[in-house]
Amino acid sequence: MLDPFGRRITYLRVSVTDRCDLRCVYCMAEDMTFLPKAEILTLEELDRLCGAFIGLGVEKIRLTGGEPLVRRNVISLFRSLGARLGGGGLRELTVTTNGTQLAKLAGELHAAGVRRVNVSLDTLDPATFTAITRWGRIEQTLDGIFAARAAGLAVKINAVALKGVNEHEFDRMIAWCGEHGFDLCLIETMPLGEISGDRTEQYLPLSLVRSRLKRSWTLEETDYRTGGPARYYTVRETGRRIGFITPMTHNFCESCNRVRLTCTGTLYMCLGQEDAADLRRPLRDPAVDEEGLREAILEAIARKPRGHDFVIDRRHNRPALARHMSVTGG
Ligand code: SAM
Ligand code: SF4
Repeated sequence: MLDPFGRRITYLRVSVTDRCDLRCVYCMAEDMTFLPKAEILTLEELDRLCGAFIGLGVEKIRLTGGEPLVRRNVISLFRSLGARLGGGGLRELTVTTNGTQLAKLAGELHAAGVRRVNVSLDTLDPATFTAITRWGRIEQTLDGIFAARAAGLAVKINAVALKGVNEHEFDRMIAWCGEHGFDLCLIETMPLGEISGDRTEQYLPLSLVRSRLKRSWTLEETDYRTGGPARYYTVRETGRRIGFITPMTHNFCESCNRVRLTCTGTLYMCLGQEDAADLRRPLRDPAVDEEGLREAILEAIARKPRGHDFVIDRRHNRPALARHMSVTGG
């Protein structure tokens, strides 16, 4: 599956629900209106759609959300997709989660074929964790992280860098990740969706963070790439990787290998653009067969734009895109 700019599309991110048990301040408003159930694809529909993408060359699928692990019976989707690993064409099945359900589900995820999980944890301080997530308890996420490790899953910690909130904690987080064997990825805030706060106050350029970290740590450049917006280094003192996701300060679009599917079957060809394709209509249309579904996907890929241009609108404090990150799952 090649897009108009010759990029091979091999990575599908799927938001399996728009719901979440937390309300991180940079991601959601406190009282969110969630989608009516009829609009949301069933797990069987999601599996069928993912199967079509795999048939067209997708090798890696990441389930995200909202919080993917709060969707009822989501493990059955992991199992059906996991069955496509190896000979089925899929090479990797992963998940991005806030970790609250991992203590319960880590073993089942591993049994389904998942080998790596990304867990969002912006702070190691219990009070800051509760403030960022509006009501979360850090113990629940930490229990989940250690359950994942115990189940044999490699853990990468994702932390959104927030000015004045967790910026003094990154040294500690690098040391903690080193101690427990986790990679770490720092993420710059992105202007997606109305969130009832001031984004320009939260925005912290990672170029600044990186130069500060270099005072305490030796960051060795690596050529490790995932086709995404992360730039990775090895922290010599811990031997673990640290990634910096900087969509606002760098252009990473040339190597983009991914598209994003929402839980309603809308395909976004670019995280930073509004253009999207409705795949639910062909999926639910009895007159459309597998070939028709493949054609709808290919037609969407043919519209994948060259890139995006995020800006935080400083004058109006408006998001660059109206949809929330929980729609496309990051
Ligand atoms: N609930 C899961 C989680 O928190 O990992 C998966 C979905 S969440 C939307 C995926 C990632 O997007 C998380 O790491 C989260 O921190 C990040 N995120 C959410 N809103 C963001 C924003 N406005 N800017 C940058 N990252 C954001
Ligand atoms: Fe939920 Fe993840 Fe968004 Fe936080 S970042 S509110 S955990 S979807």
